[in-house]
Amino acid sequence: MAAIICLAIVAGTIALTGCPAEGENRKKKTATTNALINIDSSSLINHLAYLSSADMAGRETGTPGNQLAREYIVKIFDSLQLGKAGDSYLQTFPIGNDSSNQGTNIIGVIKGDQYKNNYIVITAHYDHLGTRSGDIYYGADDNASGTAALLAMARYFKEHPPKHSILFVAFDAEEKGLLGSKYFVSHAPIPLSAIIANVNMDMVSRNDSNEIYASGTKHYPFLKKYVDSVQVYTPVHILFGHDGEKTGIHDWTNQSDHFPFHQNQIPYLYFGVEDHADYHRPGDTFDKVNKSFYYQVCTMITAVASLLDRADMLQQTGTGQ
Ligand SMILES: [Zn+2]
Repeated sequence: MAAIICLAIVAGTIALTGCPAEGENRKKKTATTNALINIDSSSLINHLAYLSSADMAGRETGTPGNQLAREYIVKIFDSLQLGKAGDSYLQTFPIGNDSSNQGTNIIGVIKGDQYKNNYIVITAHYDHLGTRSGDIYYGADDNASGTAALLAMARYFKEHPPKHSILFVAFDAEEKGLLGSKYFVSHAPIPLSAIIANVNMDMVSRNDSNEIYASGTKHYPFLKKYVDSVQVYTPVHILFGHDGEKTGIHDWTNQSDHFPFHQNQIPYLYFGVEDHADYHRPGDTFDKVNKSFYYQVCTMITAVASLLDRADMLQQTGTGQ
């Protein structure tokens, strides 16, 4: 009986007395449930509504709509009093050979109170496809959803200070070939060796089956246990895969901004839904977002990030293995 109880605790399902791991697991449970109940749903949805509005005109890199989105993200970073990695939240980079054309990443920092020189990097791209033949590609799911989640997570971690430092990066020019994230890893404001994990969000708000993927655990199996620990607390069904584990299934390893991190041997978790009928179409609009699913996904990812942050072994070994 005792052994069964301890197994249940190790699985992160419940905190019971009488097991040596009790204290540690209670902390884990607290970190998880804190994240699941302390995300502000109305500000999350407001961020999403604004970023996917017609004013943004699809947020294509180099357009006024993209700039409007950037100004909004900076305004939220400012209001949260996030730190800066340099003089500014902004990291500009060239697009192609035209010097007048540039992209802009937005980088905010919350310093850890225990391991301030080790970073978790939470990312989402804010650009999308813009306006074509008069049609706005709103990109509500792709990727106003990840960007709004990033803003909500920044607020959460400001209110619940992390042990490790956290970098929040809204990438530009993902749709043009991961240009923002490629530039970031080659011109990072912190040593790449100080990054213990990347948590990337790209399309996290729509799925009719209540399912989202946590991709990347094939490459970094030690990360799976953090996702598994949260599964028991969330109604969202978390799937693994799309990382080359099975032939015949689309491999997402190089499909979003986690890829440049992976190329530098930085462990990543990529959260995203299966492609849907409005993927890269004008119909990817705010009204089609499943608000309840989206909120639960956002809290779930925050809980995973919180568990990663609480894991001392990540800091000690750099890989957790
Ligand atoms: Zn995307």
